[in-house]
Amino acid sequence: MKLLLLGGTGEARELADVLTDAEVVSSLAGRISDARLPAGQVRQGGFGGVEGLIDWLRTNDVDAVVDATHPFAATMTEHALTATGRLGLPLLVLRRPGWTEQPGDVWHWADTAAAAAGMLPTIGSRVFLTIGRQGLDAFSTTGLWTIARCVDPPELVPTWCELILDRGPYDVAGEVGVLRRHRIDVLVTKDSGGPRTSAKLVAARELGVPVVVIRRPPLPAGVDVVDSVDRVVEWVRARR
Ligand code: NAP
Repeated sequence: MKLLLLGGTGEARELADVLTDAEVVSSLAGRISDARLPAGQVRQGGFGGVEGLIDWLRTNDVDAVVDATHPFAATMTEHALTATGRLGLPLLVLRRPGWTEQPGDVWHWADTAAAAAGMLPTIGSRVFLTIGRQGLDAFSTTGLWTIARCVDPPELVPTWCELILDRGPYDVAGEVGVLRRHRIDVLVTKDSGGPRTSAKLVAARELGVPVVVIRRPPLPAGVDVVDSVDRVVEWVRARR
C-alpha cells in the first residue's frame, strides 16, 4: 500500500516512524529552513494546487492519503479532500485536540487574527505574538508594543514589532522568563493544541497574563477525522 502523508507536524513525524507496513511518502510545505525531516521518503514544496496534487497522486500510484498537517493548514486539507474525492481515494485527517481553558486561565477567543488584533487594546499594552510568521500583518496597526516569535523571519521583516527567532522546544521556566523579561501583559496564540507548544499557556496562567486564543478554521464537511496517531495506524492497517 502506498500512502501520501501530508506532514509538517510532530504527529506526522511519529507516523512516518511507525507506519512501517506501508510505503509512506511524507510531504512538507518546505517553507521552514532546516526543518526536522521525517524518516523515510520525503518530498518538499507545494503540489501546485488541486490539479497538481491530483497529478502527483496519479503519477505516484498512491492508494490513500493521510492529512496530518497543522490544524491551521486549512487550504492543504481542502485540496486533499477535493483531490482524493476526484480520484476516489480514501482520505483520513489527523487533528490533535485543541486546548481547553484550565482554572486560573484568562482566555479570550477570537475567530481570526484580525479579530484578535481588534481585541488587544482593551486587554493589554505589551503583546507577545506566538502565531508563527503568517498572519503577523493583522497586528501591525494596534499601536501596542509587540514582540513576535517565529522559527524563520518573515520575508518582509516587520518594523512595527520586535522578533524572537526560536523553534523550541519550550518549557514553562523558559516561557515564564520570556513573559517577565519583556513585561508581557497579553499573549496571543493559535489553538494549535498538543503539548509541544503549550508551556506558554502554563506560564501565562502562573503569571496571571491573559491569552487571546485564535480559533481553528473549521474542517470541511464530510471529511473522516481522528485525533491520535494510534487511530491513524489502525485506519491504515484496516486498509492493507
Ligand atoms: P495551507 O495554508 O493549508 O497551505 C498553503 C499551501 O501550502 C497549500 O495549498 C500547498 O501548496 C502548500 N502546503 C501546505 N502544506 C503542505 C504539505 N504538507 N505538503 C505540500 N504542500 C503543502 O498551510 P500553510 O500555509 O503551510 O500553513 C497555514 C497555517 O498553518 C499557518 O498559520 C502556519 O503557521 C500553520 N502551520 C503550518 C505547518 C505546515 O507544515 N504546513 C506547520 C506548522 C504551522 P499547493 O497548493 O501548491 O499544493
